[in-house]
Amino acid sequence: MVSKLLKWVQMHLPQSCALCLHTLHQQEHVLCDACFDAQYEKQNYCLHCHRPVEHDSGGFCAACQGETNKQVRIYACQHQTALGSGVRKIKAQRQFYWLEPLCEMLYQRVMTLQKQQIIEPAQALLPVPLHDTCLRQRGFNQAYLIAQQLGRRLNLPVVSDALIRTRHTPSQQFLNRKERQMNLQGAFQLKHDLDVQRIAIIDDVFTTGATTDQVMACLPDYACQVWTLSKA
Ligand SMILES: [Zn+2]
Ligand SMILES: [Zn+2]
Repeated sequence: MVSKLLKWVQMHLPQSCALCLHTLHQQEHVLCDACFDAQYEKQNYCLHCHRPVEHDSGGFCAACQGETNKQVRIYACQHQTALGSGVRKIKAQRQFYWLEPLCEMLYQRVMTLQKQQIIEPAQALLPVPLHDTCLRQRGFNQAYLIAQQLGRRLNLPVVSDALIRTRHTPSQQFLNRKERQMNLQGAFQLKHDLDVQRIAIIDDVFTTGATTDQVMACLPDYACQVWTLSKA
């Protein structure tokens, strides 16, 4: 499945920049260097509430510093941008070549935060699972594809068998946070313990946090971070 997918991706790699349509140089993939740099989210944001913060804030805004339940939620781009449309196209149109630049941006953001010692390095990557029915219909789990890309870059294991989705939940698209929480209540189950302490939960989009909150509820004994390609 994976090697087939890689071959498919290579065959369908665009020859021009997916954003500005300039011809790509040999070392450029999907996006030209100028677009990659321009699109890269340079703004420092509070890792919990995502409001803009100063460079040396330590990762959290003043309001979130004292928050006991604060989470580390890292994303690479805003969802309502040209780059964010790439995230949607992975899932909706199987444009898997978007994985490369988007995962590279997320990787760079994670590495920067690690070097600044704002976050601790994760020891395993855990993609948010799809229900079997949904996986069969779609044929792939985008969260797993993202985790694989990041796992290669960070040399970390991708754990895809520990957590399962026990219920096929209706689409979340038009639900608010409270409704999403109700929709997802008890939707995940941990099948076996993990041999690590620090886990990065991987998904394509961070919307209200309802999904990753439910995943984290299954992992009370682990230090979890949330890594997504975009933030809605
Ligand atoms: Zn470009
Ligand atoms: Zn904050």
